[in-house]
Amino acid sequence: MKSSLLCVLFIVATSSSLLGAEPKTVDDFRAAAAKANAVLTIPDWEQTPGAVEASMKDAIAKANNGLDQIGAQDLSKVTFKSSVVALDDLTYQAGIAANKATIIKETNTNPAMRTAAENAVKAFQEWAVGIDYREDVYKAIKAFADIHPKLTGEDEKLLKETLRDYRRAGLDLPLDQRKEVEQLRKELSKLGTDFDTNIVKATAPVMFTKADLDGLPESFLAAPGVRTGDDAYTVMANITWQFITMEENAKSEATRKQLYLIHDTLAKDSNVAVLNQMLALRNKIALRLGYKSWDDYQTEIKIAKTGANAEKYINDLVAGIQPKFDSELAELQKLKAAETNDPNARIMVWDWRYYGNQRNKQKYDVDKEALRAYFPFQKVLDGMFNIYQSIFGLKFEKIAAPYKWIADLQLYLVTDAASGEPLGMFYLDMFPREGKFNHFAQFDIISGKLLPDSKYQRPTVALLCNFPPPTADKPSLLTHQDVETLFHEFGHCLHSIVTRAKYGRFAGTHVPGDFVEAPSQMLQNWVWDKKVLDTFAADYRDLSKKIPAEIVKKMNDAKLANAGVFYRRQFAFASLDLALHDPHPEDMPYDCKFFYRSIRARHSFLTLGT
Ligand SMILES: [Zn+2]
Repeated sequence: MKSSLLCVLFIVATSSSLLGAEPKTVDDFRAAAAKANAVLTIPDWEQTPGAVEASMKDAIAKANNGLDQIGAQDLSKVTFKSSVVALDDLTYQAGIAANKATIIKETNTNPAMRTAAENAVKAFQEWAVGIDYREDVYKAIKAFADIHPKLTGEDEKLLKETLRDYRRAGLDLPLDQRKEVEQLRKELSKLGTDFDTNIVKATAPVMFTKADLDGLPESFLAAPGVRTGDDAYTVMANITWQFITMEENAKSEATRKQLYLIHDTLAKDSNVAVLNQMLALRNKIALRLGYKSWDDYQTEIKIAKTGANAEKYINDLVAGIQPKFDSELAELQKLKAAETNDPNARIMVWDWRYYGNQRNKQKYDVDKEALRAYFPFQKVLDGMFNIYQSIFGLKFEKIAAPYKWIADLQLYLVTDAASGEPLGMFYLDMFPREGKFNHFAQFDIISGKLLPDSKYQRPTVALLCNFPPPTADKPSLLTHQDVETLFHEFGHCLHSIVTRAKYGRFAGTHVPGDFVEAPSQMLQNWVWDKKVLDTFAADYRDLSKKIPAEIVKKMNDAKLANAGVFYRRQFAFASLDLALHDPHPEDMPYDCKFFYRSIRARHSFLTLGT
């Protein structure tokens, strides 16, 4: 199924593929790239743990060499290129090694490779913190800034933000305090990696009987690995699509509750302690740097500017949405009361997905599971490609990947359809497997950058997703939410690939944190439009069947009907994040559970856990 659909894409996407069965390679695009003064690079992937380690060592050594050169120059002759740009050049190059190690850590099928990559990422992070504290390099940058150069545009921004980084790293502090901040930041970055790794490593199989799974669609019960005995089913609480399908469909409250508690406490045994340590370190760093809290430190470089502004923003949103949230909650409560014959039944945190789904089915006649038939993965992918190719004037062509970490890895090359200029490449690794990153995200591998020889390095990125895999008799069938996620994540891919930024620091998605989601959030709206859906969504058993107009209308109505709960939940997460990082006495130990409980009290059922 998959490969025949891919052929359809070839014919749509490129007429030259009709000439032969051999897929193109990146070399077929070298001439066009040279014409555009652009460089295309397929990463040179390490394939042994030793190579992963050696590659990181080499990257750090080269970067240190670059730092030495910046630091050793005659300060009376320092230029923009020999200071600020040289620093961007070397951090960019070292960053590529770190990005590759991250991809290996998140995707490799060999646990020894993942461990080597994890160690390489940690080594890089420790080194990256350290470069802020190279006094000799700082002096060269300062010497350049002190001549008050007349810079404009991206150059001016690069100098301004480089100086800002030094201040935020504590370079204005006396030496002993600066050393302490450096040490604290190194510890913090290690703990951050541990926190993520603990979650990725947390596998959480939960056994159920068929009776426990009443309400689940047959397709779920038949998914690979789910049925593990005569009357035994194993659901992985750590696999997002399995968790959500269960929470939306399982009739048994006990089942929903059991799975919810396991899912929302993944890696709790290790991560509660890690988080408490991280909070203490963040607080200390903020205090040493002269901020009242980590909230203030983090928001300084964002639109909100202060923790108090961010908190007010969230509180205003909460107040604004409360009436809508209350009426939605009352509606869900009624459904639960009717289904359980308990007039006092309350909606718990493991209930809202289920009753929201029930209400959609009853009131809006939207059956999310039945809609999957319209969204076979490959058709959705091809359809999305056609839409993005058409609105942005791009062309995507599948090319041969010289090295694949999994058999069904895909590599595509993007060109500007009008000029023929190659713009970059993206990998697709779309289905879950053991040890793989368990969410949906775009990862940079090689960012865009104007190279020292005036050629432009075009980006190469990867999309790592976890869509439901195909089964013996069915293709991978996505939910409409999966389709929206794909449009969103692929939006990040294009944001990265079409960049023209001169410096790695500003390329693609390297924008202020409160803007980075904006392009994808706009692009994901295509999937709510009947005209757009009709270009690719069709029942995989009978391609002439499109989603009826009244269903698309009902999907939109249902989306609006759930908006109160959806956003109220997001605001609860934001409130928790802000509360964890509020001003806090330095000598008082952290108890993240305390903050969690106080937020839970303010946000009713939404954050109720253990
Ligand atoms: Zn996003």
